Order: sequence, then C-alpha cells, then structure tokens
Amino acid sequence: MSRFLGYASKNSFYSSKAWRQLRIHQLTIEPVCRACTANGRVEAATDVDHIIPISEAPGLALEPANLQSLCFRCHTTKTREDNSRSATRQNKARKKGRILNKRYPV
Ligand SMILES: [Zn+2]
Repeated sequence: MSRFLGYASKNSFYSSKAWRQLRIHQLTIEPVCRACTANGRVEAATDVDHIIPISEAPGLALEPANLQSLCFRCHTTKTREDNSRSATRQNKARKKGRILNKRYPV
C-alpha cells in the first residue's frame, strides 16, 4: 500500500489532515449528490468520491478536479464498480502473464 502517496495505508490517507480538509471543502462547494442530480433527484451528499480511484491514479488523490460529492448509496455503488473493474484488469494481467510464460518459458 506504499503507493498511496507515501501514506502507510489507504486508511492513513483518509485520516490525513489534507484529505479531511479537502473533503469538507468539496462537500461545501457541492452539497448535493452529483450522480443523483444527473438522474433528476436531489439527495444530500455525505461522501466525497475520487472520480478516478486512488488505486488507479494515486497522484490525483488530492486533486480537486478528481473529486465529486455523492450520497452514501451512489458512493457504495460506484466503489463496487471500481473494485470489480480493478479485479477484472488484474485477472487479465495475470492471464496475459501466463500466456507470455508459456510462449517464452524461463
Ligand atoms: Zn446519490
């Protein structure tokens, strides 16, 4: 987990002062859920989401343009999608690795 901007873990990033300040700022400037708004609903935002997940772009962890306010429900849905996309990519990379190993045995 050292790839998270040098934080010891993902949890220590989310408890960092820089993140907590940025999170409050984001919820202040965008107090309603962006995904609900896109679907014609008005829902108070409770969570701040990384549009491109930290696991994919650690350098954008504190980039305001990479943040969006979401309600708990939308954030849970998006996080689940992000995680499954990430797992699919890792599986593909593993399969690719196996094929390469077959073709070029060490
Ligand atoms: Zn929502």
